[in-house]
This record gives sequence, structure tokens and C-alpha cells, in this order.
Amino acid sequence: MRLEGVEVRWVDLRLRRPVATAAGAHLSRPVVLVRVCTEAAEGWGECGAMAAATPVDPGVDRMWTELCRAGAPRLWRASRARGGHLPEASRVTTLFGTSGPQRMAAAALEMAVLDAELRAAGESLVARFAQEGVPPGPCRVPVGAVLGIPDDRRETSLVAAVDRLAEQGYARVRLKIEPGWDLAPIRAVRQRHPALPLQVDANGSYRLGSPGADAAERLVILDELALTCLEQPLPPADLPGHARLAELLATPICLDESLSSPRRVADAIRYGACEVACLKPARLGGLACARTALDRCRSAGIGAFVGGFFESGLGRSANAALACLPGFTLPGDLSSPADYLTDDPFSYPAVEDGAVVVGREPGVAPAPDPVALLRLTARRAWFGPEDPAAAHSA
Ligand code: MG
Repeated sequence: MRLEGVEVRWVDLRLRRPVATAAGAHLSRPVVLVRVCTEAAEGWGECGAMAAATPVDPGVDRMWTELCRAGAPRLWRASRARGGHLPEASRVTTLFGTSGPQRMAAAALEMAVLDAELRAAGESLVARFAQEGVPPGPCRVPVGAVLGIPDDRRETSLVAAVDRLAEQGYARVRLKIEPGWDLAPIRAVRQRHPALPLQVDANGSYRLGSPGADAAERLVILDELALTCLEQPLPPADLPGHARLAELLATPICLDESLSSPRRVADAIRYGACEVACLKPARLGGLACARTALDRCRSAGIGAFVGGFFESGLGRSANAALACLPGFTLPGDLSSPADYLTDDPFSYPAVEDGAVVVGREPGVAPAPDPVALLRLTARRAWFGPEDPAAAHSA
């Protein structure tokens, strides 16, 4: 496909409820999108970066700069070197380095190139995956929900929120914990819901050998609560510490922030630090990298699920199709973006009975609603000889 240009677009979405992060509570969910235009089809990609950077993931400002200064120009030059033709989606990641921003840029551009390829071929993403073991016909994937720490920090508020999710039929619930908010509230949820699959996520907030409330050794008490897994108890770099905890606790240790590349996944498995993997394509370098990481988990007998970054319907549709692959043994973060976004230019299939039936329309997801997209766009940049938007307004 001949590349005619690449657009980078900043879209201002809003969250229905504040999302608490280490950097504070945020109500906005700015999203950077990329669009590749070819003579055959156009394709859309979503960057996973959120408003605030974390020690592991770059923030949206950094990724706007990365995609405008390096990512989009690199895809343009790579196409020039191929006589004007786009590289195949499966090759896009190889154009980029291994830093966090480069992997995230590669993931967004890979999704856009893949979307264009699929549209040109009239093929859905899940049909493309069918060549890799996804059975033909409707693909129904279980959907998990995530709950943060309640604003009022009351156990009754947490239990009431879990009640609502259980009523909606979610296949599992993942609860955030931190030092000072761990054993008692999770025990209260477990007493109320003895059979609900529960995970807890500590976002790296405990320390081995600490004398305080953040002592990771204390978490052994969680073993009585029959949790599916304990996610990221220690800082991302501490693979030996996670391996020690895995020996100490019966609850399986899950890694999320530690898994920043397929190589890192292999390292974590080799250390014995990872018994369940939360795989996020946007962080790992895209769908191809996520599949490599999944293969490593599968061959080691490690369970896995698809993690999320509060994506729009585009990124979440890609994740839902990915979750159809054999090897994703646990429900992913695949709830409807309408649950957390007030506006979304992209659509997403309805979640029913705790599952979503992955769409079979051509492309990664249905094309965005142009009116909503225009209304929500804060800025855009074009890389190519002729900006169609500029020509339009002239
Ligand atoms: Mg996590």
C-alpha cells in the first residue's frame, strides 16, 4: 500500500469518575491517535499513554512529542525507502528502539498500519488471528472489572461497589490495594462474595524487609482469601524480590509494570518471579510483541490476561481481539469504555453476561464517528506531501 501521509491527533476525552494514580486523581483522558492514509485504505492506531507519566509508562505529552518528532517521520522515511510503500504491520516494531516511549510509539503505529491492511483486505483483526489458533465463528471473551480504592476509604463503600459489579455479571473483579488498605477491606469483600474470582493489584507499593505497614511479608495473610493472584506487590525492577515472594505466598504472584518488553517477560519467568502475566500491548511494543510475550508465557505454563489503560473503543477492540488467542487464561480488562469515558469517537461491542463478542468488521475496530472526532480533537499534525485537511480548508 502506498503511504500518502501520517496524521497524529490529540483527542481530549473525559473520565466519568476520577482515576487515582501515584500522580494524583485525574478527570481527563487525553488520547493520542495516529492515522495512516494510503491509496487503498486508511488505518487508525491508539497510543496507550495516559495524562500522567508513571515510573514505567510515559505520559501523553511525552508521547505526542515522540510520535510527532520521531514516530510518524520514521514511518514516512521507512515507506520512502520501500518506494513509497508502507512496511507490513508485523515489521513496524522493528523500526523502533527499546525505550518505553519508542515501544509505545511503535504500538500505536503498528495498530494504524494493521488497521489499514485489514480494511484493504476486508478482514477483521480476529479473523487475522484465526490463523493462529482462534477458532472460526463468534469469539466471546470474558470481561473483568477493576475497582480503585474508594474516595471515602470505607470497607462498606468497597463492598457495595463490588456488589454492583457482581450483579452486572463480571467474570472477575480486580481490587487496588496499598499499605494501610489491604487485608481488612479485601477480607470484607471475600466474606460477602465467597465464590467471586478476585485479584488484588498493589502497583508496586510494598517492600521486602520493611518494618512498616508496607512490609511485603505481611501479604502472606492474603493466602486465606483464595485470590486468583496478587499483582505487582514490589517495584518493577525487583524480579528477585518477586521470586522470593512467590516462594513465600501460596497466592500466585502476577506481574504488570515489570513486564515492559517480551524480553522482560522471559527474564521474569526465568527468575521464577511471575506466575501470572498482565500483558499490555501498548507498553510491550504492540500486538506482535504481546503475542511473543504470550508465547513465552504459554510455553512456561504461565497464566495471562490482557491489561488495559482506560483506552477508547479503538484500543480496547484491539485488546479484545487479542484476548481471543489461546493462552489468555484469565478475564482481561475489557469492560466497555462507556463505563469510564463520557465521550468516545470509537464504538465497542456491548458487554453482556460478563463477556463481549468480538466484532468481525474489517479492521481493528469500526472507523471513528467523524463528528465526534472533530469535536474532541485538540490538535493535529500531518506528515506527508499534501495535508488533506489543509486542502479542504483552503
Ligand atoms: Mg496493575
